[in-house]
Amino acid sequence: MGLLALGTALDWPEAKKRADQVRKWGIEQLLANWRRAKSKERDALLWGDEVEYLVVALDDEAKKAQLSLAQAEILQSLAVDEALWKAGGAHTQTHHAGHEGERPPHFHPEFGRFMLEATPGRPWGIDFKDLLKVESDMKWRRVIAKAHMKPNEYPITLTTFPRLGLGDYIQPYYPPSGPALRSQFVPDKIANPHIRFPTLAANIRSRRGRKVEINVPVFKDTNTLEPFNDPTVNYDLHNWPEDDDVRNGAVKEGHVYMDAMAFGMGSCCLQITFQAKNMTEGRKLYDQLSPLGPILLALTAATPIYKGFLVDTDVRWNQISRAVDDRTREELGEVPLKEDRWRIPKSRYASNSTYISQDPRLRKEYLDPDLVVDEEIKKRLTDEGMDDLLATHFAHLFIRDPLVIFSEDLDELDLTKADHFENLQSTNWQHMRFKPPPPEKPEIGWRVEFRSMEVQMTDFENAAFSIFIVLVTRAILSFDLNFYIPIPRTTENMETAHARDAIHTRKFYFRKDPFPRPAQRRQNQSPNGVSTPPPSPPSGPVELEYGQMTISEIINGSTEGFPGLIPLVQSYLNSVNVDVETRCALERYLALIRKRADGTLWTGSRWIREFVASHPEYKHDSVVSERICYDLVKAVEEMTTKEGKDGSVGWELLRGKE
Ligand code: GLU
Ligand code: MG
Repeated sequence: MGLLALGTALDWPEAKKRADQVRKWGIEQLLANWRRAKSKERDALLWGDEVEYLVVALDDEAKKAQLSLAQAEILQSLAVDEALWKAGGAHTQTHHAGHEGERPPHFHPEFGRFMLEATPGRPWGIDFKDLLKVESDMKWRRVIAKAHMKPNEYPITLTTFPRLGLGDYIQPYYPPSGPALRSQFVPDKIANPHIRFPTLAANIRSRRGRKVEINVPVFKDTNTLEPFNDPTVNYDLHNWPEDDDVRNGAVKEGHVYMDAMAFGMGSCCLQITFQAKNMTEGRKLYDQLSPLGPILLALTAATPIYKGFLVDTDVRWNQISRAVDDRTREELGEVPLKEDRWRIPKSRYASNSTYISQDPRLRKEYLDPDLVVDEEIKKRLTDEGMDDLLATHFAHLFIRDPLVIFSEDLDELDLTKADHFENLQSTNWQHMRFKPPPPEKPEIGWRVEFRSMEVQMTDFENAAFSIFIVLVTRAILSFDLNFYIPIPRTTENMETAHARDAIHTRKFYFRKDPFPRPAQRRQNQSPNGVSTPPPSPPSGPVELEYGQMTISEIINGSTEGFPGLIPLVQSYLNSVNVDVETRCALERYLALIRKRADGTLWTGSRWIREFVASHPEYKHDSVVSERICYDLVKAVEEMTTKEGKDGSVGWELLRGKE
């Protein structure tokens, strides 16, 4: 979720005064780093995955599931173990058969005090054999995490805890509210206590001028209250000025209402980061993966419950977006602009709004017409020689204010660091992130992060989606594929991905012909460096280049249109040397993607909905009771640990139309 630093964090009024300085210094650091790293070449094609977990405590007697706020204890215990491992001593990390000689995974804190994040002990390489290590590495992470928890605690990869914010849902118990979040549902103690996190939440609220507002449409079942007015909202609180929010219309009829960053950033995802061989390739991957963001969000949909209610959306995305939306009323366009500089169409957490590749196929018609940029910053970057596209990208990210500023960092500008740059970069949570090499670690190259996927309940699925995206990037680079569509269509697709069962009921904008134009292909393949004339820029109406397709057509292809991502991956695999055994092993993972897209297998969201609907205690009133929540988490825990032993996908997920 970003960098941790120590020091005295400024509260919002003070931070606001220093915002310009941080932005300026951030841009100088970016420039220094870009000059240093722009011609970096031949970095290895590496990649890494990040899996986020909830820590859930199960009481099998009382049939109760609660979030455990044990993050700090678990991480401390893990750190001791890691230190022992480094010193070559005994440790629980190696007590897992099949991983001898492998570096144990790393664990990191996340926003929620009930969350963990884990990454592999070393980046994965281009060798296909590495792809086959991912699933077992993910399982290993679970075993290790579990070994550092209390016997009744489990690492669970549900995106959200079904009853977060409702009643007796955390351990130890703290009553709601506190100076940072001022929520009426969750205590400040819900957040990681590192000063960065409460400050982030408090400054978002403070900048915005009221609490964050998250309204998710409730799923209307046969006995759901009609009209539905969220019965868990208290309209009579008078502890904080923000308690007025609900009296001023923050709660929408027909919606589940939430009021704190924890309801969004307390969600878990699966992210993949790629290291490119150079900046040019990184920029290409950033652009080409961007249109895939919403497609993979819909395919991984796993979030049908909030605060004890089934909701009518299937994914976490917009809830996180709203949970960190620091825009003022002026920036939101609710009142005329006076103090603020711009109206800003999107939250800091949103689908991305730029293309950055110097690719002749990038037509200006694809760019976002609503893009807001800081022209002064852009000028500084272009004056120093940065090209227009990249300068526009960073000048867009830098329209935001830095949210967490440590006073100690403002004394002197250190151009060998990237702290001020990262301050803005790491709080722009767009679905793609373009990452310059960190100045302190010259061995790392230009990287691109793919951020939209929901975490999956089982490691088989998490591995399958990681492997799939990796193979898609290989196909993109190997065939020079072109997935460009106008950015506003990707923005729309992101909304479309929220619909209940979007994967089968909705269509998404997607490019029809992904193959490079013949002129370009010739140029790329020209032998002996003989240069052919540059291709003429593409022409014809942009609207004819893309169409609306089902997820199944995008993934599996359609007879007359788009060839399909899986067939593209298959032709890539055909074009390289993969031994039969590896190919068969990869096939198992690709089959999950294929079958989920065609409806043979369910999304996590669908499975959870069916679980709730068929629970004896469910009254078809959209309410997910404590007991249903317990049984659900228990079933997920069992599925997670039992799956895979017979080589099968998490058993229940196989159910579907067949
Ligand atoms: N947990 C966040 C999500 O679900 C992402 C936080 C991060 O960037 O690590 O998207
Ligand atoms: Mg994270």
